[in-house]
Amino acid sequence: MTAGAVPRYIGRFAPSPTGPLHAGSLVAALASRLDALAHHGHWLVRIEDLDPPREVAGASLKILEQLRAHGFEPDGEVVFQSTRHARYEAAFEQLRAMGAIYPCSCTRREIADSLRVHGAARERHDELVYPGTCRQGMAAGRTARAWRVRVADTVIDWYDRGRRTWFHEALSDRVGDFVLHRADGLWAYQLAVVVDDHQQAVTDVVRGDDLIGSTARQIYLQQLLGMPRPGYLHVPVVTDRQGEKLSKQTGAQALDAASALDSLEKALSHLGLPETGAPNLELFWSGAVQRWRESHWMGAAPA
Ligand SMILES: [Zn+2]
Repeated sequence: MTAGAVPRYIGRFAPSPTGPLHAGSLVAALASRLDALAHHGHWLVRIEDLDPPREVAGASLKILEQLRAHGFEPDGEVVFQSTRHARYEAAFEQLRAMGAIYPCSCTRREIADSLRVHGAARERHDELVYPGTCRQGMAAGRTARAWRVRVADTVIDWYDRGRRTWFHEALSDRVGDFVLHRADGLWAYQLAVVVDDHQQAVTDVVRGDDLIGSTARQIYLQQLLGMPRPGYLHVPVVTDRQGEKLSKQTGAQALDAASALDSLEKALSHLGLPETGAPNLELFWSGAVQRWRESHWMGAAPA
């Protein structure tokens, strides 16, 4: 990057080091890089290693090695979330100073029980909608287990470039006041993503559609923190025969450098684009960018 020149498009791929890359994560990586290349933008890699218990030793290095072997080249230094606690802390303090967050002592069980008592069928999308128990303060003698952000009773509207459709989400109905920080020191994914996307000046978030449900929460935090909103494009995740998202937990095979070209062609097909038939990685990438550029994925966001 020339000093002072900020590209108009900055995209990113943000894997969690819970295991090596597999066919599913390759689709998200490929889509994000093709969109960046097609827009003559920059493409960054961020390792989301904020959850040590879920991490697999050596997975970060393995992922970076696999990306290189498949012809991915980040346009900047790889960022590790584990080194960025001070930034999350700063955003957290900003929200605390605004009175936007509060401590909560509720256990998962208590939240589930309270939802049953109130007869509220508010358990949707496998997430418990927090009923706001500690909004006005925790009960005497209780200690905080987490900090939650106060969700306003408004609808978040956002456009998905991939689906070419608007989403309208009432956060208070769907998730309620959500957790930003746990007492054991873990930062919530939603806060870390928003802080990092902003700090890395990401203009376009391209990722698997398993994260569609996180988008409204992230936009809400951007609004509170006064950050600009990036564009969003979600691509279909790869599922196994049971319809489960392909993951290490469901037995996905690690990508093998020896069959890089074949894996990339399959990922391209999954995105609905014809295979390139290229004899090498270089020609694969130029062919794939051309296909992406001519496809429906390039639809611009409405003004
Ligand atoms: Zn609570």
